[in-house]
Amino acid sequence: MTNKASMDVLVLGSGPGALAIAAALSKEKLTIQALSASEPSDPWPYTYGIWGQEVDELGLNHLLEHRWKNTVSFFGEGSTIETNKKNIETKHNKDYGLFDKRRLQEHWLNECKQGKVEWHKGIAVNLQVNKEVSTVTTADGRKLEARLVVDATGYEPVFLKSEAEEEIAVQTCYGIVGRFNKSPMNKGQFILMDYRCDHLNKNQRKEPPTFLYAMDMGKDRFFLEETSLGLYPPLTLEVLKERLNLRLAHRGIEITELEHEELGLFLPMNKPIPDLNQPIIGFGGAAAMVHPASGYLVGGLLRRAPIVAKAISNAMNNKNASPEEIAKQGWTALWPTELRRKHALYIFGIEKLMRFEEEQLREFFKSFFELPNDQWYGFLTNTLSVMELVNAMWTMFKTASWKVKWGLMGMQGREIRLLWNFISPRY
Ligand SMILES: Cc1cc2nc3c(=O)[nH]c(=O)nc-3n(C[C@H](O)[C@H](O)[C@H](O)COP(=O)(O)OP(=O)(O)OC[C@H]3O[C@@H](n4cnc5c(N)ncnc54)[C@H](O)[C@@H]3O)c2cc1C
Repeated sequence: MTNKASMDVLVLGSGPGALAIAAALSKEKLTIQALSASEPSDPWPYTYGIWGQEVDELGLNHLLEHRWKNTVSFFGEGSTIETNKKNIETKHNKDYGLFDKRRLQEHWLNECKQGKVEWHKGIAVNLQVNKEVSTVTTADGRKLEARLVVDATGYEPVFLKSEAEEEIAVQTCYGIVGRFNKSPMNKGQFILMDYRCDHLNKNQRKEPPTFLYAMDMGKDRFFLEETSLGLYPPLTLEVLKERLNLRLAHRGIEITELEHEELGLFLPMNKPIPDLNQPIIGFGGAAAMVHPASGYLVGGLLRRAPIVAKAISNAMNNKNASPEEIAKQGWTALWPTELRRKHALYIFGIEKLMRFEEEQLREFFKSFFELPNDQWYGFLTNTLSVMELVNAMWTMFKTASWKVKWGLMGMQGREIRLLWNFISPRY
């Protein structure tokens, strides 16, 4: 049997996930076509942050628009003006960067240009896979064929199947870029998490906690984003906006110029890993690659795309391999047992944190960031081995307050089932 598809791969989508995998596949000298509802050069809507060490290790520091050395969080209850030790900032002692979205996009598009990538605009509506070829039909009736389809159409993928989970933890954010009557943070600073809650009254503090993620963008411009880490059902944008306004008002800060408002951002954090037996593969948000504890994706895309592309290319060397056989090799490279185990632990962890009340959460993060830098950084970037991850979690558990320990120990709802996935990963 010789495969009859004229193209090797059909990538669906043109977000960061699609571009990352299309670029990596084209470096493998495969022939690729990509189909997306949007143009590959259309601006992306979000702000993509990343740790400095990650971009350095990838040799991609030049893709950053900003890089901060002064990186901090606040896990105390109130203002830093008080000298109460509890309220002093936690210094991260690690650089943090913000991607220049345009440059990141061009980086991947240039890599695509050096290979053989053909772009099509359209909406994929139907998929048929037989033993030789995968065929996608668009809403306007065109048919595109390839040996393998990669579904990178985001969090609600068009074709990729996952086990349905009822309670998806959703991160929600309300962000603004603007100028203020006084500086909302120290000059040149980046704040990963400001969990101070002295702007909330007793009742408000019983509601699900939120934190401020903030950047000094230079020239008196600041990006401030009120964020709910992950919650089911999610916090609404109205609540987040109100929280941000309360936070600013409490510190006597007024917006003097509103340059940009980020609305309607919902990020599913604990999506289950897709069914690894399907004859297509996924990449990006579609394939549960978002880090369940941080919501980050881009570092993982950059690290994992070449590995997956290599596996697909190797599988395609066998001219008789069916789409299903090629997909199987791709899935094994994307979600090896080690990563599935870690994913299970992260999902278990976010489930726990969703139940924590405000004080518990502040104490949890305080202990977490007291771990040695390599441990918390490796945890947040998903770069630890399973054993190192377990070790980091155990170290944190030992040093955490009793309030946090109790929260971590008591098993509720589906937590035992989620932990079981660590012992015996799905698929
Ligand atoms: C508020 C927010 C903040 C984030 N912050 C960070 C961060 O700081 N750092 C980080 O690393 N990550 C961050 N992320 C996570 C992640 O990087 C983004 O969500 C990312 O955009 C997901 O990329 P994707 O390519 O998988 O999906 P998407 O960006 O959603 O792209 C999907 C693509 O598929 C196309 N498409 C959809 N349906 C079809 C169809 N039927 N046919 C053809 N094409 C279709 C769309 O047009 C689009 O091009 C954040 C996410 C959110 C929501």
